[in-house]
Order: sequence, then structure tokens, then C-alpha cells
Amino acid sequence: MPQEANVAEAAARGLLFIVSAPSGAGKTSLVKALLDQDSGLALSVSYTTRAPRDGEQDGVHYHFVDAATFDRMAAAAAFVEYARVFGNAYGTAAAALGEQRDTGTDVLLEIDWQGARQVRERFPDAVSVFIAPPSLAALESRLRGRGKDSDEIIAGRMAQARDELSHHDEYDYLVVNDDFATALGELHAIVIAERLREPRQACRHAAALRAMLGGG
Ligand code: 5GP
Repeated sequence: MPQEANVAEAAARGLLFIVSAPSGAGKTSLVKALLDQDSGLALSVSYTTRAPRDGEQDGVHYHFVDAATFDRMAAAAAFVEYARVFGNAYGTAAAALGEQRDTGTDVLLEIDWQGARQVRERFPDAVSVFIAPPSLAALESRLRGRGKDSDEIIAGRMAQARDELSHHDEYDYLVVNDDFATALGELHAIVIAERLREPRQACRHAAALRAMLGGG
């Protein structure tokens, strides 16, 4: 039956996870630790017009492109979502995302709330997680702990962080990153629980369930 085939096909595709957080909430470290722990999960590498930071590699942390290339890709509908964040453009390439999911790999998008909205529209079954700091004071001390930024830059980042935070209620899950190990465990629990949702499991174990139920 075509409908059954579609359900099975959808179940074989990788899940889509969205993770957003205000800058300084610890999202990048949490996501890195999660990926190290879970071989069934891969990161989508975004395109950006911002300059690489020290230690960032093209094709690993981001695909670093100029504004003209980014605009060309956007015009050609190459992105499933894109947005401007802190004055730079960021986008998720549709082709790479589709290829990753087609192999059955679950894919994680580390994107801002604007991108998250676009992805939810396009993929209503995407699972979204918001990571919040325990307090603004903790966030500020983490931002200051990074080093050399001026008070003005910190104030700007704090304003941006509050703006990102105000969108927490658009997400399926909320993780508060007070203790790193606890937050990591919670993040992984979400991934595992989503994989265990009944419809996916029923497709994965269809033959065994049929055999147990005596239907053939
Ligand atoms: P950063 O420049 O510090 O790596 O990232 C700045 C912000 O851009 C973060 O909130 C990050 O989640 C977001 N971001 C990174 N890649 C993408 C993307 O592909 N799309 C969108 N919408 N946001 C992104």
C-alpha cells in the first residue's frame, strides 16, 4: 500500500533536531559533547558570511562564503532557512540536509529562533530544544569569561541574548544549562525519547510485531 510505504520511508529518514540558545548559554559545548556521545547524530554545517574565528575550519564549523555567494544561494532556494544574526547571514543548505537525513542519520541544526521558525514551517515534525542559562548574571559572567570584549560589546550581546530568550516558548523542550553534565544528560534524553516514539519504533520493528501478533 502506498501509504504504508510512505510511513515506512518517513520512519527510515533521520530525525531533525533544532537547538537554539542565547550566545553564552553553552550551546556549542553541549552540542559538541552530545555529538561525541551519540554516533547516530550529525551536525548540519551552516553557511555564513561572517569571518572565521581562530581555530574554525571551513567545511567543519561553517561553510564560509562571501555575501554575493550567499545571496545567490538564497535566490536559488538552496537554503531551507536563513537569517541575519549579529549583522551576518547564516543559512542551512537544503541539499546537504536532505542527503544526511536520507541515510537515516539524525541531524541537528544549531540555529537561531528565526531559522527555527522557518524549519518548523517546512518540517512540522522537527523537534526543537531551547537551551537557557540559569540566570542573566550567569550568562554575563560567561560572556565576560570569554575575555577581551568591551563593556559595550557585552551589553550588546546581553540585549541579543534577552531577545533570543524571549522565544523560548516556541520550542518543544527547554533545557536549563546550570550544571553541564545534567544539561547534557537531559539533551541526550530528548534525542533518545524522540527516537523511541511509537510510530517510528513500530516501523522499525514491524516484522517482529507482526510475528508476535500472529498476523504473518
Ligand atoms: P556564531 O557566529 O556565534 O557561530 O553564531 C551566531 C548565531 O547564529 C547563533 O545563535 C547560531 O545558532 C546562529 N546560527 C548558526 N548557523 C545558523 C544557520 O544556519 N541559520 C540560522 N538561522 N542561525 C544560525
